[in-house]
Amino acid sequence: RQYTKDEIRKMAKEENVRFLRLMFTDLFGIIKNVEVPISQLEKLLDNKLMFDGSSIDGFVRIEESDMYLYPDLSTWMIFPWGNEHGKIARVICEVYTPDGKPFEGDPRNNLIRVLKEMRDAGYTDFNIGPEPEFFLFKLDPETGKPTTNLNDKGSYFDLAPMDLGENCRRDIVLELENMGFDVEASHHEVAPGQHEIDFKYADALAAADNIQTFKLVVKTVARKYNLHATFMPKPLDGINGSGMHLNMSLFHDKGNAFYDEKNELQLSQEAYWFLGGLLKHARSYTAVCDPIVNSYKRLVPGFEAPVYVAWSGSNRSPLIRVPSSRGLSTRFELRSVDPSANPYLAIATVLEAGLDGIRNKIEPPKSIDRNIYRMNEEERQDSNIQDLPSTLHNALKAFEADEVMKKALGPHIYQSFLEAKGLEWASYRQEVTQWERDQYLEQY
Ligand code: ADP
Ligand code: GLU
Ligand code: MG
Ligand code: MG
Repeated sequence: RQYTKDEIRKMAKEENVRFLRLMFTDLFGIIKNVEVPISQLEKLLDNKLMFDGSSIDGFVRIEESDMYLYPDLSTWMIFPWGNEHGKIARVICEVYTPDGKPFEGDPRNNLIRVLKEMRDAGYTDFNIGPEPEFFLFKLDPETGKPTTNLNDKGSYFDLAPMDLGENCRRDIVLELENMGFDVEASHHEVAPGQHEIDFKYADALAAADNIQTFKLVVKTVARKYNLHATFMPKPLDGINGSGMHLNMSLFHDKGNAFYDEKNELQLSQEAYWFLGGLLKHARSYTAVCDPIVNSYKRLVPGFEAPVYVAWSGSNRSPLIRVPSSRGLSTRFELRSVDPSANPYLAIATVLEAGLDGIRNKIEPPKSIDRNIYRMNEEERQDSNIQDLPSTLHNALKAFEADEVMKKALGPHIYQSFLEAKGLEWASYRQEVTQWERDQYLEQY
């Protein structure tokens, strides 16, 4: 909700807030904090707080050193885990240049820009319901560093005592609720040590903010249990990785624009075009929705993660699923996205892809209602089913070739993203891995 400055002053005083944590997100989706004492509150409320942007990844130009943080007062929140010295409040900020313009390299500003484009096209909201999955690993009692030792052997919907993460997860849910999250479901996932917590959908900007806050809460609470929570997409091979399915729907004044009770599958014409755009640009936004080298170790057959570009109204194997609920909940579930994605950038790319579908009336291919993993390559070719990119490198090639991605991220972020990810790939490519030594050292 949109607080006034006076309300903020009052809450800070009544709750004994001692520190302000000013949050924003860098190119890689990492939350950045500038912490200032409460004495700086007035300066913050007047948009006068400055920081050095040159130390932030993706902000890296000389002219980007002096930056201002403009607080989004609707994101004000007092953390429940304060200490005896008083509490810490956080507020998510927009990054502005010294001449008072939204900084183009700020992923959140970029999403705001794309959402404005959506409003100009006649829609009111782009709703996003994320399903983030994560692993809990034990911390090394000696060094305090994360290990890859799982803390349980549970699996899907298991209950204690198999599920030792249960208490930790329950505590996470309680903290989230304290912070105003509407948690809809929380359960153990398929892999040992793996969990999922779903919270209610929100308009794109709030949903992206929520994802960032969510990760912070999960990691903070896990620490209290001597556990490390990781959103790395595929921490262990041979078992499921972690996805962050995005449920999405477009609203206009009259409600859910994807719903039309008279049409095929009760999906509107716009829904089909949006889907057409999502499928057409799928290979290119994968670079942003699955942005790290490790993401592609998850997108392999056999672990409930998508591998092919296809959609279905019934089965779960394809990239895009249309969950069965209709009316207000008519939505698409995009299953490729993983939790290492920068949510502001990921959402901007899928929205732009869908809007491109509507603008250009892109008809989606026929739905694939059989198990794609049982089809051979020839059958897939006959049905026009493309593969998702198999590596970050391939995804970047598709991304670079797609003008709609440039539109989705703006020239500044588009360029920084390509440069940074190109370097990441180059560094990985030169690495000689243990797998290679195991395979080849004796054999050759
Ligand atoms: P699954 O079918 O994959 O198990 P879940 O029930 O776990 O999906 O998650 C559903 C998610 O979809 C929740 O985050 C929910 O808030 C969200 N959701 C429901 N309706 C909409 C909608 N109209 N637009 C976007 N997200 C929605
Ligand atoms: N963990 C699976 C993935 O990598 C998803 C499991 C599910 O359907 O919830 O996407
Ligand atoms: Mg899941
Ligand atoms: Mg799902």
